[in-house]
Amino acid sequence: MDVGVFFQRKPKKMDFHQTPRSHDVVSPQKAYKNKDDEGLDLHNHGTLHKGIKRYDLKSFWELPDHMKDNEFILNYYRVCWPLKEALFSIFRWHNETLNVWTHLIGFLLFLGLTMANIMQVPQIADLLCLFTRSILTSAEANFSHNSEELFLGTRELVDLKLITSSKTITPPVTTVTRWPFFVFLGGSMFCLLSSSICHLFSCHSRTLNIFLLRIDYVGITTMIITSFFPPIYYIFLCDSHWQYIYLGGITAMGMFTILTLLSPSLSTGKFRAFRALLFSSMGFFGMIPAVHGTIVNWTNPKRNTLLAYECSMALFYLVGTGFYVSRIPERFKPGWFDLAGHSHQIFHVFVVLGALAHYGATLVFLEYRDHVGC
Ligand SMILES: [Zn+2]
Repeated sequence: MDVGVFFQRKPKKMDFHQTPRSHDVVSPQKAYKNKDDEGLDLHNHGTLHKGIKRYDLKSFWELPDHMKDNEFILNYYRVCWPLKEALFSIFRWHNETLNVWTHLIGFLLFLGLTMANIMQVPQIADLLCLFTRSILTSAEANFSHNSEELFLGTRELVDLKLITSSKTITPPVTTVTRWPFFVFLGGSMFCLLSSSICHLFSCHSRTLNIFLLRIDYVGITTMIITSFFPPIYYIFLCDSHWQYIYLGGITAMGMFTILTLLSPSLSTGKFRAFRALLFSSMGFFGMIPAVHGTIVNWTNPKRNTLLAYECSMALFYLVGTGFYVSRIPERFKPGWFDLAGHSHQIFHVFVVLGALAHYGATLVFLEYRDHVGC
């Protein structure tokens, strides 16, 4: 039985969570709705096809105010979907599908890297690192004048066997502690996973939308903070007071950012540029230990490789933030990039690339400290 006509009633413009007023006619469908799903007005959004409920995608103009974030994305919105439907919408095309998958794949990639490092399975680590190398090779080649040295450095980075077998490098003096490395991996995974969850479930309700957006921002901040741990820790391994100053400073700044972002009003689209400024300023703060570390580390034979990786990371993050703020390309052709190719998806990809570049740099730091010690 096709009862799709039951759901043709025009959505109310303002409040999708309004409880029915006393003069509303309570239809049999509403009675079904109430026992079905947490009081959400599903009948504005669902269609029944042969007994299977299928939720319709909406246009920008049909959205409740809290979902009107990007006016250049015109269609394919999920509105007030129940959690179960939102969960399974990961396998459906809508304007958040690629936002979910880009960071979910990034999360799985970092989970794999973490497991490989924990389990110390060099073969898996090498395989995953090959991906890192293929992304960064061109960026590195452009960066350094001494390309031969850089290439050798990169090969050493991704192929751990080269380090231990073919090169006549002195055996490790000691194995430097890994905890800053795992702090970075944990922070990256938290960011990527919370972002995926946010994009998947924020269509459920206004309350959940606001909560998940905050978690998403906390995730981004956590990733930025934790990214500083490996370079600062390993560069200033022999100078612990600089470790405390820089790690303390970036952690304090991150905590301030998190507290600021937890304010609900700052989660709205109006403050997009402000949020980007906060994130970027944390990044720029990192320039101080980066410049300091570069000077301290200038005689390190892996200097160019490290600079190439870290500059690639900065470039990826900056370009990604540029897309996020400018909402290019959808602003030039509203509606064309609703499903694929809009700015947020591009931003997500650059975030993963930036994290991978930083992962590569961290491996170089680890290898260097394992062999040189303090
Ligand atoms: Zn996102």
